[in-house]
Amino acid sequence: MKIKAINGVKDTLPAEIIYWQNIENTARDIFHRFGIHEIRLPILEKTQLFTRSIGEATDIVEKEMYTFVDKKITMRPEITASLLRAYVEHGLHVQQPVQRLFSIGPVFRHERPQKGRQRQFHQVDVEIIGAQEPEIDAELMAMGQMLLSQLNLDVSLEINSLGCPECRPDFRKKLISYLQENHDTLCEDCKRRTEQNPLRALDCKQPGCKVAVKNAPSILDNLCSACEEHFAVVQKQLDLLGVAYTLNRFMVRGLDYYNRTTFEFLTTDLGAQAAVAAGGRYDGLVEQLGGPKNTPGIGFAMGMERMVLLMQQQEGQQEKQGQGGADIFIAALGKQAIEFAVPFVHQLRQLGLQAAMDYSNRSLKAQMKQSGRLNAGFTLIVGEQELEQGRGVLRNMKNQEQTEFSLQAGADELVSVITS
Ligand code: ATP
Ligand code: MG
Repeated sequence: MKIKAINGVKDTLPAEIIYWQNIENTARDIFHRFGIHEIRLPILEKTQLFTRSIGEATDIVEKEMYTFVDKKITMRPEITASLLRAYVEHGLHVQQPVQRLFSIGPVFRHERPQKGRQRQFHQVDVEIIGAQEPEIDAELMAMGQMLLSQLNLDVSLEINSLGCPECRPDFRKKLISYLQENHDTLCEDCKRRTEQNPLRALDCKQPGCKVAVKNAPSILDNLCSACEEHFAVVQKQLDLLGVAYTLNRFMVRGLDYYNRTTFEFLTTDLGAQAAVAAGGRYDGLVEQLGGPKNTPGIGFAMGMERMVLLMQQQEGQQEKQGQGGADIFIAALGKQAIEFAVPFVHQLRQLGLQAAMDYSNRSLKAQMKQSGRLNAGFTLIVGEQELEQGRGVLRNMKNQEQTEFSLQAGADELVSVITS
């Protein structure tokens, strides 16, 4: 019986790895420039961490979490909550009042799998904790933009403000009464969550809801003066940094903890899976998780699968890029040649080369073929005769030139010959 992977999870095969490494390397490089440090976090957390932070009435908590019910443990559906848990648990603010952190890894949500939507997917997550200045919001978005454009990803940035505990309750009330007036046109989900989570109706994808909210009150017209000022500076800073954006008053996030600035980097190339990265401010969350009072924070998460799909699509380079080739392949013909080659290959590897050989004593033709498949730069051919004479044949696989190589000269000499 063939056992297959479960629905909604994927293997990342060697031919695709180049995209993942490219994202990770580029992200690390850019985070380094912005003074953002790596933190590694567990995948399993107490269920409570997510119900408390993300919110009971959200899609994630209501229906997307992988929870071991007998253990009250959940496989993280996002990284922000775990990262803040670690921040609070280790008192990171004591060492450095503003923490700039990133983490990369898998997250789990029980959703209907489709292109760009999996049950195990991967995020690059960035959080800046302890600073509330609007310059930080703009800096973070500018960094996201820099990373995505460095990867040649064509995306647009949309921003919104969700207000704060001062102004949101009033807006919420206004919105609820508006939704109640338009109750009949809402989808079942939005009807149900009108009182609990009215903001979700604003970005509901159902056609009825889209029409219904068109004339809904705008959060941007209902911000308190502090939020209005904050958001105005965010926009001014984005302009200063040359980051293009559009305002989207319908954007809300599917997690309860956001306030003030929220943003998404969007693509039109992945159908319904438009969001490549999303984030925002969560100024009350650290305190809510038992951390120091009044600790602001902002962050975003990038979906790596969607980035990879876009890179493949936008670059039109779906063909295998394959692994980097071997530096050298030793074609050993005959038992004695193999005995010579085994420690020789090992020495080459100790010296830093990617060296390969075959132990099965196949024909020269077969071994040359194998060398080609490994995309080797050179092949050193060692048969019985070459061994006797102490001279192997070194073939440059690019231009097919052949030279003699003195086997006594050793691995060091070979390294200098082929890397010169
Ligand atoms: P969506 O609206 O597409 O469901 P979301 O708002 O649930 O996204 P976030 O919680 O903000 O997503 O996660 C950040 C990013 O992670 C998204 O912008 C997206 O790129 C990616 N992402 C979210 N869910 C999935 C998934 N099931 N499979 C792959 N990537 C995902
Ligand atoms: Mg979602």
